[in-house]
Amino acid sequence: MNVPEHDIVIVGGGGAGLRAAIAAVQADENISVGLVSKVYPMRSHTVSAEGGAAGVVRDDKDDSLDLHAFDTIKGSDFLADQDVVEAFVKEARDELIQLEHWGCPWSRDEDGRISVRAFGGMSTERTLYAADKTGFHMLHALFQTSLQFDRIERYDEWYVTKLLLDDNGAACGVAAINVRSGVLHAIPAKAVIVCTGGGGRIFPFTTNAAIKTGDGMSMAYRAGCPLKDMEFVQYHPTGLPGTGILMTEASRGEGGYLINNKGDRYLSEYLPGKMELGPRDMVSRAFVHEEKAGNVFEGPYGTYVHLDLRHLGENKIDEKIPFVRELTKNYVGIDPVYEPVPVRPVVHYMMGGIHTDINGATPIPGLYSAGETACATINGANRLGSNSLSELLVFGARSGQHAVQYANETKMPPYSSLEHMVVDEEQRIENQLLKNNGTERIADIRSDLHKTMDRGAGIYREEESLKATCAEIPKLKERYKRVKVEDTSSVFNTELTAALELGSLLDIAETVANSALLRKESRGSHSRSDYEERDDKNFLKHSLAYHNEGGDPRIDYLDVVITKWQPDERKY
Ligand SMILES: Cc1cc2nc3c(=O)[nH]c(=O)nc-3n(C[C@H](O)[C@H](O)[C@H](O)COP(=O)(O)OP(=O)(O)OC[C@H]3O[C@@H](n4cnc5c(N)ncnc54)[C@H](O)[C@@H]3O)c2cc1C
Repeated sequence: MNVPEHDIVIVGGGGAGLRAAIAAVQADENISVGLVSKVYPMRSHTVSAEGGAAGVVRDDKDDSLDLHAFDTIKGSDFLADQDVVEAFVKEARDELIQLEHWGCPWSRDEDGRISVRAFGGMSTERTLYAADKTGFHMLHALFQTSLQFDRIERYDEWYVTKLLLDDNGAACGVAAINVRSGVLHAIPAKAVIVCTGGGGRIFPFTTNAAIKTGDGMSMAYRAGCPLKDMEFVQYHPTGLPGTGILMTEASRGEGGYLINNKGDRYLSEYLPGKMELGPRDMVSRAFVHEEKAGNVFEGPYGTYVHLDLRHLGENKIDEKIPFVRELTKNYVGIDPVYEPVPVRPVVHYMMGGIHTDINGATPIPGLYSAGETACATINGANRLGSNSLSELLVFGARSGQHAVQYANETKMPPYSSLEHMVVDEEQRIENQLLKNNGTERIADIRSDLHKTMDRGAGIYREEESLKATCAEIPKLKERYKRVKVEDTSSVFNTELTAALELGSLLDIAETVANSALLRKESRGSHSRSDYEERDDKNFLKHSLAYHNEGGDPRIDYLDVVITKWQPDERKY
């Protein structure tokens, strides 16, 4: 069966993918979009975002676009491209207001104005929220808006395995398995937008949903597109031990304390000016120091500190952060109204991703990317909480609009030209995964990957452990060649998709570890215990990791764009 062709194929039905789809069909009334997602769109990870989305919408908060830009750039440890950040803060505001018009129920103050709350590293209250279920409401507003357009055709529960490139190296569609039937199809397109989210699942302990395996990054990487700034992985300071379930930063934005086993608000030692509202990289590192000093609690799932919300009182907790109460009651049997909540740092977000320009365009003609999977780059070495929900709106829209322009100047690839590519891809999957008589188990390789990433590329890194991780990943890739998929059925073969996802994890893990090994400085989330200082002379630049079949990735560098904020010491 041939799948209909589309002017634009979007991979990913989360916030970025839906925003890109709406932007594309609104930009041109003749454009058709295929929206492919491995899960039903409302199950995308965006749904689980809690705390809020940043934007300058209030005129009574001593705020300005420049201040939002500066906070973002300082938060990034001066690695963000400043021209991109300037465009971002301006359009974020407009996007958030538009989302209100599309039905997003932002929380409101008594006087009817949209509420804003404090967030880590932001100079003033500028994070819009819908209680602490912001992602759920944003994704709903985007999803229901997308339903207005019959030119957006959805392929729910289709797993994209490969980007297809034509003879000139331009994107010409994707290969995707319809998970319901198991059949692999080519979906031809003039342009492709990759919006597949992050890849926190390369680490064992993460807030990220199981589907966040970096598939799109891996596909783009294999197609020859570099992955930018992959060494920068964000730890969120407050996850529940054991599960990694997130206690939103809004709980500190609303006034929660972090307390060590001495009963002290220990951040006064590290971030006296910001306390619990310091940026995530610094608050997470403070935990490690407290751990070394023996100031943390010991529990069945390792060490932890307390997130104390009791002084906020029941009414405020129920009104502002009801989901926190729901989660702690259900997952650790604790009611935060009466007891402090155990928390510890947990892998949360990838600052790096598919290298794009300010419009979401990658170096591959016809290939665009937006959302967490892309690196545009506004986040640099450390993202500020609540910027990424705004980011996916701004760059989702930009990539959709620019993909339309590209598609309008491009011819549709003939279906026949894609057929042999799909046959090749089908054979690759059969030979490599389904009929290889392998002996290795998916879970074993994944668990060994987790161990080596945790040891080598965690909150603190150093030469020796990073080298060990870089040496271990090729061995895991060798073992992956012998991986066994025991379920050979075609209908909903989730073991097969898990095996494909493991391939993506291994690809992006090698870019994280190798980029981290070569960055001999500490900047933002990348803390080298052997190079403790930031080194602007040698490393005020982005890393670009290129795929290199059979060897380590090739790492190149790109200058950071500075408009008006010169790098300065980052103190809070
Ligand atoms: C628990 C949690 C809370 C957060 N809270 C906040 C917050 O309060 N504020 C904030 O700014 N940020 C927050 N973030 C970060 C933010 O939510 C994400 O960065 C953002 O939602 C990512 O959106 P996305 O559209 O890029 O990707 P996602 O929403 O992850 O969507 C990815 C899409 O790609 C599809 N896909 C992936 N691989 C394939 C494939 N192989 N084939 C087909 N489809 C594929 C998936 O099906 C999915 O539809 C939070 C993140 C987490 C994990």
